[in-house]
Amino acid sequence: MRLDNREELMDEYSRQPSYDIPDMYRSQKSKLPSSKRKPPPPPLSEEEIRVIALYDFPAKEPRDLTLRRAEEYIILQKYDPHWWKARDQHGKEGFIPSNYVTKNMLTNLEAYEWYCKKISRHQAELLLRKESKEGAFVVRDSSQKGAYTVSVYSQDGLSNNGDIRHYQIKRNSLGLYYLAEKHLFKSIPELIQYHQHNAAGLVTRLRYPVGLMGNCLPATAGFSYEKWEIHPSELTFMKELGSGQFGVVHLGKWRTVVKVAIKAINEGAMSEDDFIEEAKVMMKLSHPKLVQLYGVCIKEKPLFIVTEFMVNGCLLTYLQQRKGRLRKGSLLSICQDVCEGMEYLERNGFIHRDLAARNCLVNEMQIVKISDFGMTRYVQDDEYISSLGTKFPIKWSPPEVFHFRKYSSKSDVWSFGVLMWEVFTEGKMPFERRSNSEVVEEISKGFRLYRPYQASQAVFEVMYSCWHEKPEGRPSFAALRQTITDIAETG
Ligand code: ADP
Repeated sequence: MRLDNREELMDEYSRQPSYDIPDMYRSQKSKLPSSKRKPPPPPLSEEEIRVIALYDFPAKEPRDLTLRRAEEYIILQKYDPHWWKARDQHGKEGFIPSNYVTKNMLTNLEAYEWYCKKISRHQAELLLRKESKEGAFVVRDSSQKGAYTVSVYSQDGLSNNGDIRHYQIKRNSLGLYYLAEKHLFKSIPELIQYHQHNAAGLVTRLRYPVGLMGNCLPATAGFSYEKWEIHPSELTFMKELGSGQFGVVHLGKWRTVVKVAIKAINEGAMSEDDFIEEAKVMMKLSHPKLVQLYGVCIKEKPLFIVTEFMVNGCLLTYLQQRKGRLRKGSLLSICQDVCEGMEYLERNGFIHRDLAARNCLVNEMQIVKISDFGMTRYVQDDEYISSLGTKFPIKWSPPEVFHFRKYSSKSDVWSFGVLMWEVFTEGKMPFERRSNSEVVEEISKGFRLYRPYQASQAVFEVMYSCWHEKPEGRPSFAALRQTITDIAETG
């Protein structure tokens, strides 16, 4: 690993003063050059934390603990944000993924099967239409912070497709919750329970809870705690998915059960040692809208990078193949997914450097996740690295990047605006046939991409705000996410 590279990276992180870098990230950075093994950290809390499993998790290593959905566990130690040590009801102890459990409290909505924490209005509609059952419902976070919305499917509407209503859960001056003003409750679970039996003003009673739980297992940050190295014997190859900058990507399985994408790195295509060091940090980046890095296989050549498998492939192709068939709600929902993932990277002080539709992937639930974050730093190809090279993503780059290679979360924001444009043109090439040097000239003169036909004025204003000449004039991803969610909720 080259120390100078790491320092440059840290410098870039520290240049972003307003973002809080979680402790896990700080300790990773300062630890990397010297120590190999660290003693387990002390418990974060003396209190006994009781959790309930949201999904089944079969133990992968002897030190893991198997989780069974709906059973209770006690958290003994929080080793890092993603892997905790827990004890089951039989006294067995081991590591569990923290995103598979939630606090076992009556007031914790996550413990209920009708609650879908972070899904957009559009995704809720897709989920309910998939079920197409009278009274199918979910409770989700509303665009207003701390507020919740009940989305219900009903056959009674005017359209033959069924009708979906969205009811915001309101609170009165005494803090009581209600959907219909006559029926007040101390908590949301009590309110839902009441409306499961009584429509009381709703289009139908809430008959059938639809949750994401069990529907689609979330990825874990690596297969086990601090397991970043994958042995070649654990991988089987099934078919070729495509090929990219580094080499061929295969669909395969890890230990014959977990479907994964395996990227074989061509000889000379990557600065491998630098990447391997960084991979240990990147595995700790874990979010539902990021393609999860599971580990690397370094025992033999070629090097394999193992990631979450995304059945619907690259976002750019997905858009182009569905041209004319994706509704505006779907297009905005794609932008919402990417923005959420980028907000997480921004919060963690991690810069993508090559955000574009070609670097996002789509899963079986039509959820879009960001891929290849930070990977350009390990590319060994002058056409790609040099801003004069044919592969340099000029059309996605702001002036400070194509002039001075000054990357930041705000340069990612510029790229995000271009990605929104790609989404709303259903996969057109930005600046069409213009050459890179023509694009530089036009951008420098103040010209910007035009409003795509499918983008409303409000949507265009969002993408346009990303193309402010100066990085500080552009919004943060946190602000963008709020604006996009507001547009999605108001329709
Ligand atoms: P690039 O280096 O050009 O960004 P990649 O090497 O990441 O491309 O991927 C090449 C192709 O392989 C993608 O366009 C996509 O079709 C497929 N692919 C890559 N990663 C995955 C994945 N995790 N799941 C499914 N398909 C993938």
